[in-house]
Amino acid sequence: MKPSRRQFIIYSSASLAGLGLCAQAQAQTMLGEAEPAAAGLGYKAAATAVDKAKFPKYAEGQLCSNCQLYAAKGPDNGTCAIFPGKLVAGPGWCNAWVKKA
Ligand code: SF4
Repeated sequence: MKPSRRQFIIYSSASLAGLGLCAQAQAQTMLGEAEPAAAGLGYKAAATAVDKAKFPKYAEGQLCSNCQLYAAKGPDNGTCAIFPGKLVAGPGWCNAWVKKA
């Protein structure tokens, strides 16, 4: 039996809703410091823990929460354009930090 146009629309809508839920769930995963991309940029969930010898660009007061690439999602975390699908800590830092305009 051939599915009706109405069935097609219902199934399509359900699939899109499912994709939306997946994207939302994925965005709620905190970035781990040991993940290769994070480690490469010296990401730390607490900026005070940054290895200043290895990442001399770091200066006190630089935080994810005042970085141009950060978009707050919760009181202490947000998304970052460098790490799609992950949340970074507001008090964190990485070597891609750019002062918020
Ligand atoms: Fe934090 Fe900015 Fe680095 Fe993203 S680019 S992890 S918001 S310091």
